[in-house]
Amino acid sequence: MNIHEYQGKSILEKFNVKVQRGYVAETATDAVEAAKRLSHDTGTRLWVVKSQIHAGGRGKGIIEGTEQHGVALAKTLDDVKRISATIIGGKLVTKQTGPQGKVVNKVFIGEDAYYPGESDIKEYYFSILLDRAKERHVIMYSTEGGMDIETVAANTPEKIFKEWIDPSIGIQGFQARRIAFHLGLKGVAFKNMVSLVLKLYKAYEESDASMIEINPLLKTSDDKMLAVDCKFNIDDNALYRHKEIAEMRDLTEEDPAEVEAGKYDLNYVQLEGNVGCMVNGAGLAMATMDIIKLSGGDPANFLDVGGTADAERVEAAFKIILKDPKVEAILINIFGGIVRCDRVAEGVIHAYKNIKNINIPIIVRLQGTNAELAKEMIENSGLRVKSAILLSEAAQLVKEALA
Ligand code: GDP
Ligand code: MG
Repeated sequence: MNIHEYQGKSILEKFNVKVQRGYVAETATDAVEAAKRLSHDTGTRLWVVKSQIHAGGRGKGIIEGTEQHGVALAKTLDDVKRISATIIGGKLVTKQTGPQGKVVNKVFIGEDAYYPGESDIKEYYFSILLDRAKERHVIMYSTEGGMDIETVAANTPEKIFKEWIDPSIGIQGFQARRIAFHLGLKGVAFKNMVSLVLKLYKAYEESDASMIEINPLLKTSDDKMLAVDCKFNIDDNALYRHKEIAEMRDLTEEDPAEVEAGKYDLNYVQLEGNVGCMVNGAGLAMATMDIIKLSGGDPANFLDVGGTADAERVEAAFKIILKDPKVEAILINIFGGIVRCDRVAEGVIHAYKNIKNINIPIIVRLQGTNAELAKEMIENSGLRVKSAILLSEAAQLVKEALA
């Protein structure tokens, strides 16, 4: 699960990580109040207005139809008001949102961390994530912070350092010192960095994050090490033990079809194509998408209904697929292992009758226990459903349906 920058910063603060402080606001008037409150707390005379969306690249992104960047410095309270008014409700288009952009509902009003603004400040890149292949956590860090880390990785990979951490031992002091050393920090900044690395690792581990990315991590002119940006990803499987984090979920940031699918425990990912698919098992779902491609179609979605494809789930899955206007045919590909094929067929027939007005071809391929019986049931149901047992037959039927 992703959370917003302001939420991530609030978690980090609980672990005593120094962050760029600020408040979140949903209207321009509240933004001005937040700025005043922030000046009262910190004495800042400059503020940064930051769009809160679940995507990066906001600093370079533009609010559609304006010249306003998604992150901007405000020098007066009027600036705070004007910038917030443009950003809130606007559509922010960044490299990561794609051309359709994302509507901004909230802004974070932050203290200016870049005082006095030129010399003596430096932006670093810092992230902690899971390296599955090595079965370790990995800290990736670089002196080339602030900008797009993908470009650094592509052009100058030697400028990205990695420190692997054995989860059973945890991070060691020498590792934190090595990181500060490689970043070229000295004196107070070095000490602050060592302490920050240890705290960030603790935050990552104790909140069951699968990623924390701080870009930029800023060395201020007075040698503080400050998390200016924060991207937090929490392992969904651990959310049950972090109620306060689970509550941070912002459904407006997620694909509505994926949210709906989540309610039924369906594993659904929206794609761009014209053939909807309903499959049990992620591996079979991937293979089915390949088959659709080979038969000249394009998958409209990835959908794994799981091992227990009962009538209710099949119906929910149907409804979700049918909401997508691009879908011209649906391929149901279920292997009856744990669940018997005749039960799935029953579910399909039930769902089909319940939904009504399905006027696109549906191809059902059921293989496994009672496959023959299932085929018979579907053929005798009188529905416009075509059934296949072999995958090659199903592919041929998809081809015919799209022709
Ligand atoms: P991202 O573009 O979505 O990654 O958003 P960031 O939070 O990383 O902010 C983008 C950029 O805004 C940073 O790289 C900085 O250059 C700038 N920025 C962020 N906070 C401040 C600030 O307090 N003062 C100034 N002057 N610039 C800031
Ligand atoms: Mg950033």
